[in-house]
Amino acid sequence: MGGVCHCFFFLDACGAEVVRPFPAFTDLAPDWKPLRSVFGYSSACVPSILSGSYPEDHLHWSFFQRAGGEVAPLRVPWWVRALPAPLRDRGRVRSHLSRSVARANGITGYFQLYLMPLEHLGRYGHCEPRDIFSAGGLNRGTSFVDALAQSGVPSWVADWHRSEADNWAGMERAAGDPGSRVLFMYAASLDGWLHDHTRTHPGIEGELAGYRRRIEGVLDAARAAHDEVRFYVFSDHGMCTVTSHVDVMPALAATGLRMHVDYQCVVDSTMVRLWAEEPHRARLRDALSSVPAITLLDPAWLARERCAFPDDRFGQDIWLADPGVLLLPSHMGNARLAGMHGYDPAHPDTNAVLLTNDDEAMRDVVDIVGVGKLVRRAIASHAAGLNGRA
Ligand SMILES: [Zn+2]
Repeated sequence: MGGVCHCFFFLDACGAEVVRPFPAFTDLAPDWKPLRSVFGYSSACVPSILSGSYPEDHLHWSFFQRAGGEVAPLRVPWWVRALPAPLRDRGRVRSHLSRSVARANGITGYFQLYLMPLEHLGRYGHCEPRDIFSAGGLNRGTSFVDALAQSGVPSWVADWHRSEADNWAGMERAAGDPGSRVLFMYAASLDGWLHDHTRTHPGIEGELAGYRRRIEGVLDAARAAHDEVRFYVFSDHGMCTVTSHVDVMPALAATGLRMHVDYQCVVDSTMVRLWAEEPHRARLRDALSSVPAITLLDPAWLARERCAFPDDRFGQDIWLADPGVLLLPSHMGNARLAGMHGYDPAHPDTNAVLLTNDDEAMRDVVDIVGVGKLVRRAIASHAAGLNGRA
């Protein structure tokens, strides 16, 4: 039997309001609570958890940003540009093209073109140039993956390139090794399921039961091989049911300005992000102020959310949709999704969750960044043990 083992289970989009109606899931742990998320999508939240820091520190936020300065413009291979538009804009073709564009730019992180315009892609950069789950993967600062690599603490970390079933099997094997000290699962499939069905779909109970079984399989293996197992089930954000759609494109078109030429703009699923010189900027503001259910974010609000970026690389003017409003169409797609996230972090549906048997974590951790700090603290405690023995 060997020592303490820390098991972290990161279930993407498993929000507090997703699990609240299901004690058959939440009684997995002695205690649970909602955690405040970070403003933005998973591209902002996951690095916040990996690093234990906020977007303004690690510089990961929305995928597409304005090129220039530190942000390299995306290059599009000539043969991709030469493809006829009706062909290259088809969904499956686009996901092949995404791989080619990622390769042409040396991007090893998660990359999708979505519906970004290929002919104007050179005016934009991507916020995930490297695999954020690898050492040295963050734009600024370090993650717990770096800390693990330096510490020599015996560990297992999920690989998002592999199937989720493979990862669960791998975690259970690692948990059964008495030498294992830190195990970290990252499971993304619930996020996709909730986008398609949302949290009020009757199937959610079965989905959560499936996760509980897998988690308990790992915990049983860990307990059989260790003196003590501390576990943490958590997420990066929740899921809000989509109740209406808003199309911002007609208002933008009515300005007579050419998007990506006269001004730059990325329409995400819940945000419109703009870069423009005056007088275009004022004209765009006027146009969008007539669109219902979107609000221009105050820079002071963004600063409080720790999402203020001095070079405005993620947008000079950022408009946010009300919770439940899906911007459609957007540069992210045309799908009429049942659930979405990326709304005001103060809305209950945005909340992430923590389920744990660690009283101290239950008391101290209030947001998802706190979970990242917890992982680093666990690694540091095991590293100190290794040094103590040396
Ligand atoms: Zn999602």
